[in-house]
Amino acid sequence: MSATYATKLLLAFRSGDTCAMPGCNCKLTPDSDSGYPINVGEAAHIAGEHNGDGKKKRSARYDPSMTDEQRNHYNNLIYLCSTCHTTIDAIPHGENAYPVERLHKIKAKHEEKVRQAMLDAFADVGFPELEEATRWATTIQPSVVTTDYSLLGLDDKIKKNDLDDDARGVIAMGLGVASEVSRYIESVAQTDAEFPERLKAGFLEEYWCLKKEGIKGGDLFELMCRFAQRGFTRQAQRSAGLAVLIHLFETCEVFEK
Ligand SMILES: [Zn+2]
Ligand SMILES: [Zn+2]
Repeated sequence: MSATYATKLLLAFRSGDTCAMPGCNCKLTPDSDSGYPINVGEAAHIAGEHNGDGKKKRSARYDPSMTDEQRNHYNNLIYLCSTCHTTIDAIPHGENAYPVERLHKIKAKHEEKVRQAMLDAFADVGFPELEEATRWATTIQPSVVTTDYSLLGLDDKIKKNDLDDDARGVIAMGLGVASEVSRYIESVAQTDAEFPERLKAGFLEEYWCLKKEGIKGGDLFELMCRFAQRGFTRQAQRSAGLAVLIHLFETCEVFEK
């Protein structure tokens, strides 16, 4: 048993697709124009996975009191490059140098740094970034049914989608750029009338796909955020992708009404 694919994606998103080890800064998603990043990062176990019975060696920081579910839970994983993963898992050196508490601290600090950079970069989102962040939509076929979205207060929508405070914080910041996104979409629509529909369809397709896998609430929102970033490596592009998602969220185009 290992962590689910959704858990790994969430970990990659909250880690900014970057190795969490201080000083490493290894980018774990190669730049991708296709929009489907190849993950090269590893969801490393904080408290180890194997007890040493059978074929496998005992894992670093193995804790017999934990269940397998806890071992593979988001809270027990840290996003690392393979080099750093090997370093922390080495017995005895890695295990001694990187005890459980230290890894939890490293992870929390890294995720906070990523979140802050994401929020800060909303200030750098302009038409060039939005153009790069939505280029993928030019090839989408708008086949998904997208009609009948009645307006609803944003707070209600957030509640309906079961979002947590982190997600609310990101949305609040992203809304600051929402008017820039509207202006951008309108300006593209003047020469390409179907652009808004294709953009919406691209997001909705992903939304239904994730829903079908049983993902909901804050996890669903964050996986949509990751999708919106399309494997971009520049922070301004990543935040531009987010701003587009939040704009569609605000106008009720994506997520439940
Ligand atoms: Zn592991
Ligand atoms: Zn690393």
